[in-house]
Amino acid sequence: MQSDHSRKTNVFAAGTLYRVSESRVDEQYIQAKLHDPAAHFVPVWKNKNLVAAGDPLQSVYMSYDQAAPMLTDSAPLIFLGVLEGIPHFAFALPDEAPVDTLFPAGQQFKDLRDIGVLLTQDEGSLYAYARALVHWHRTHQYCGRCGSKTISQEAGHVLQCTNPACALRHFPRTDAAIIVLITYQEHCLLVRQSVWPEGMYATVAGFLEPGESLENAVAREVMEETGLELEHIEYHSSQPWPFPASIMIGFTAQATTMEYKLDQLEIEQAIWVTREELSVKLKEGTLKLPPPLSIASRLIDDWFRAGE
Ligand SMILES: [Zn+2]
Repeated sequence: MQSDHSRKTNVFAAGTLYRVSESRVDEQYIQAKLHDPAAHFVPVWKNKNLVAAGDPLQSVYMSYDQAAPMLTDSAPLIFLGVLEGIPHFAFALPDEAPVDTLFPAGQQFKDLRDIGVLLTQDEGSLYAYARALVHWHRTHQYCGRCGSKTISQEAGHVLQCTNPACALRHFPRTDAAIIVLITYQEHCLLVRQSVWPEGMYATVAGFLEPGESLENAVAREVMEETGLELEHIEYHSSQPWPFPASIMIGFTAQATTMEYKLDQLEIEQAIWVTREELSVKLKEGTLKLPPPLSIASRLIDDWFRAGE
């Protein structure tokens, strides 16, 4: 197995950032943090985050003076919190920003999916938070109830409708998705979708629907996709997944039988593997697992190690 066995927390899960959520309404507090000369401004450009090349890869921040000229009403500053005594704010750089000339050589905007495991827990978590909130701002410029413009309030954590007759307050959205590692005695079920890279297998996952509990969603998704009935559905861990606005909630469960019946629209193939069979397939290169970034990787890895 390739992943980092020492990792206790999922990538992007909260680091040591203090969100100071109670002070978002305190304009004096926010202004003081904004003008703290040490403050870090986290740009997000086309859903990508800024890093400096090198080993290890490093997060890169802007100063207030660098960030201020780029702010607009539709891309306001968002207060993220305080990390190691330093206030952090996120903001969106416009798509047309000349990023190649704005930043020194060696600094680039990268997709967090590609760099998440290369950052520290704090950096990865901060970047995921920034990316998710900037995306929410971009997609909630207008009120979903009456169609009027919204404006940013509470340091970027509320978008309020500007129509006085409506005045609806919109809050950041997170879409819940379940992901489950299914076992039967010494076997683990791996599935693949036809759109995935050749040979890649992972665990069953799907979105929570309104009116469902998380364990309802686990049972329904697995029944729909594999026809398998589950027992002992247990919570494992969760992972913020800002692609663009999800949280992956991980479970383990046991199937009551090995006989599955696939929904071919969702799942192209499924296999039951023992730890030994999985080792052999990985060595042969006939099977690939999800990247170490994902909770799917951790679920599989934890199961694998439980047999060591
Ligand atoms: Zn409205």
